[in-house]
Amino acid sequence: MNAHAQITANFLANRERSDWHDQTLWMVRQKRDRVAATVPEWEELREEASKIKDHVLSNLERYLLQFEEKAVANGVQVHWAADAAEFNEIILQIINKNKAIRVVKSKSMLTEECGLNPFLERSGIEIVDTDLGERIIQFRREPPSHIVLPAIHLKKEEIGELFHEKLNTEKGVSDPHYLTAAARVHLRQKFLTAEVAITGVNFAVAETGAIVVCTNEGNADMGVHAAPVQIHCMGIEKIIPRTMDLGVFTRLLARSATGQHITTYTSHYLEPREGSDMHIVIVDNGRAERLGNKTFRDSLKCIRCGSCMNTCPVYRRSGGHSYRYVIPGPIGSVLAPHINIRQYKDLPFASSLCGSCTNICPVKIDIQQQIYSWRQEISQKKKFSAFKNIPLRIAGRIFAGSRWYDFSGKVARWAIRNLPRRIIYHRINVWGRGRELPEVSGESFKEWYKRSYISTHK
Ligand code: SF4
Repeated sequence: MNAHAQITANFLANRERSDWHDQTLWMVRQKRDRVAATVPEWEELREEASKIKDHVLSNLERYLLQFEEKAVANGVQVHWAADAAEFNEIILQIINKNKAIRVVKSKSMLTEECGLNPFLERSGIEIVDTDLGERIIQFRREPPSHIVLPAIHLKKEEIGELFHEKLNTEKGVSDPHYLTAAARVHLRQKFLTAEVAITGVNFAVAETGAIVVCTNEGNADMGVHAAPVQIHCMGIEKIIPRTMDLGVFTRLLARSATGQHITTYTSHYLEPREGSDMHIVIVDNGRAERLGNKTFRDSLKCIRCGSCMNTCPVYRRSGGHSYRYVIPGPIGSVLAPHINIRQYKDLPFASSLCGSCTNICPVKIDIQQQIYSWRQEISQKKKFSAFKNIPLRIAGRIFAGSRWYDFSGKVARWAIRNLPRRIIYHRINVWGRGRELPEVSGESFKEWYKRSYISTHK
């Protein structure tokens, strides 16, 4: 069993949790559908967003340089990082230069991707995630299981236990209002004592050099406004050309991510406050290589809304941790093999290829086609185990022509009807573990068609 299947089996063993996980995410998907339906030009917005991203990707160098020039003119210090190691070093240098040891951070998938938290902790820096979901999983020392709802795999009773242990809340109390209030008091003290605030970036506007951060908790603003040093971390793909393009993306993002009409805080940061420093770190970490890859280039359009996860029947029933990569779900299955094809070769197969992700994606990434392309590439590069390779070769031969197809159909129908159950449901038949095969007909569709239709229409 591959790693995804193994972790999924463990996740599914707790039926109550997996059903609840599935239903909760489906509820978010339905909420998204309802608010998207209130925007008559929804499909035009998706088309427009996709076109803007296409244009940016085709002119990325120009827009990045324009953004840098404007940001520098605004008094911002701009840094460039080729990879995760360089990114982490740049952040540490800024922190050290300011003789800081206390850092607050709002949600940033890029910092997760680069492993910033453990890196800074090894250097003696206290880094506190201030998004509530992120703080919960930070307390548990585990990665997020969803890019928008990082603690969606946990139930409120577990969070009650965790907060009792970490924040000394009342034992056995899991009321969300009570727990949120406790987190608020705890985080307020962290905000007030932090020397550096780090945020992610949702959009970077080339014509002004401004960056835009969307949060529902206002934690990015709390951090940035209280700390004397602010650092904003962005991948090279976050650029949009003009401020007027923002409206297209903010309308799509909030509705796609959580089914809200608007994100609670859409914060624009243009220049440092008087007496404080503002840094922007622009990171490649494999993105430029993907830009040059025609098949997977479109994955750079992703605005990290998470809706492909909410709709995916596999993600909802397997949980985010089964993907073992910082970005799970359908788009994670496209991104992870770029990082390490050997380690993540199972992910493109963790998909039904139903296309629901592509239908819902606000920037119209052809996600299921990219997943399918990975399957082909992994198979051509012979990254399969023999356990997968041999059955696929046999299946390829069977489906290649009608002679073998008809013959194997006959054999299968005979075997299912005549062999003892212990052979049909042997442990190597993984499909048979959780399912009963349907009753098998004595003849194939072709035989039936010849007998009952063609013969009567001669
Ligand atoms: S691939 Fe599309 S649906 Fe998935 S997170 Fe990115 S923008 Fe959202």
